[in-house]
Amino acid sequence: MNSPAPSPAHVGLAVENLHKRFGDRPVLRGVSLAAQPGDVVAIIGASGSGKSTMLRCLNLLEQPHEGTLRLGSETLQLKRDRDGSLTAADPAQLRRWRSRLAFVFQSFNLWQHRTAIENVTEAPIHVLGEKPQVARDKARALLARVGLSHRENNYPAQLSGGEQQRVAIARALAVEPEVMLFDEPTSALDPELVGEVLKVMRALAEEGRTMLVVTHEIGFAREVASQAIFLHQGVIEEQGLPREVLVKPHSERLRQFLSGGL
Ligand code: ADP
Ligand code: MG
Repeated sequence: MNSPAPSPAHVGLAVENLHKRFGDRPVLRGVSLAAQPGDVVAIIGASGSGKSTMLRCLNLLEQPHEGTLRLGSETLQLKRDRDGSLTAADPAQLRRWRSRLAFVFQSFNLWQHRTAIENVTEAPIHVLGEKPQVARDKARALLARVGLSHRENNYPAQLSGGEQQRVAIARALAVEPEVMLFDEPTSALDPELVGEVLKVMRALAEEGRTMLVVTHEIGFAREVASQAIFLHQGVIEEQGLPREVLVKPHSERLRQFLSGGL
């Protein structure tokens, strides 16, 4: 990785007592977590345990039924919707809030008809109002950081999965987020491409970014994360230092999960 871009302020994030149901079915049942600035929180758990829903509630992609969300010292103002879920009380606050978080998804979600560099400049130009030339210079530096200078004019279909995910990470960085949210960023990749994406994520962690990472890469979680959380059926079953939670778990369910039996 080349020299880091000027570092934005990396703030902490806190969630308290998050509840979410789909219809009558509870999916999150009182989840609380706090990431200090620079923390990397690894979230693990079986399929269906509520990991993606939890991340999506953080920017109200899903509306929770209870809970408090904080970024740095700011609390998201919520009000109750007609259907009983919580929505933003102030749309302008929600827009600002969303621009402070960046998502990286399992499925990359790149714009297929735009080149790598156009994917990275899209939000800075059209959402943040940056001048195209400024956005392009920044995008070039970001693509260099993820090792893709030679790929800037390629379309997603011309890139490997690992390259596409690195473009998605450069795109996420382009809006200078304060917190980065990763939802199984390497799960769709062929095994030989996982390492190149984890290497970029490790470098982001080392520069002090606050990150929440849903992952099945237990080795990465053990080495890079500052906290590990095991979610089971919408409840945090175990939480703590990765070298304890992931190495000497107390819960029988977590032991089973780690041995591949869940
Ligand atoms: P994970 O990411 O841990 O695999 P999810 O958060 O995606 O789990 O899903 C948790 C549960 O919520 C699952 O049972 C899933 O089927 C259900 N679920 C997720 N999204 C929706 C939705 N939009 N409508 C109904 N049920 C959903
Ligand atoms: Mg998921």
